[in-house]
Amino acid sequence: METINLSEEEWKQRLTPEQYKVLREKATERPFTGLYWDNHDKGTYKCAACKSELFSSDTKFDSGCGWPSFYEVSSSSAIELKKDSGFGMIRFEVICKKCGSHLGHVFNDGPAPTNLRYCINSASLDFKKEEKKP
Ligand code: FE
Repeated sequence: METINLSEEEWKQRLTPEQYKVLREKATERPFTGLYWDNHDKGTYKCAACKSELFSSDTKFDSGCGWPSFYEVSSSSAIELKKDSGFGMIRFEVICKKCGSHLGHVFNDGPAPTNLRYCINSASLDFKKEEKKP
């Protein structure tokens, strides 16, 4: 897969300050504040930094946690997982494989069929609404 390698200076120019903090500095947006936690439209969620396709609305579910939550990735090759033991917890960080940006974390308390919960920052996502077919 093609990857994107930009300097932090270049990312700073391309992203909003909020996106930069989350995507490049691994910040977490406050729950129930992002654009997409309560979005129920059909469409595709892309990486806000590189536009790589990450999640489909078909796998989004209401987790109650205040962040967009998905039980599956569009393609397993779109992301990379990294063990994260910060804040006294062991979690897996979800990273965009194409550009190396931070997306969120994955937990194993999600619904069937995967039992996974990809808990993703809205700031890391760019939603493309599905066009209604006439
Ligand atoms: Fe990306």
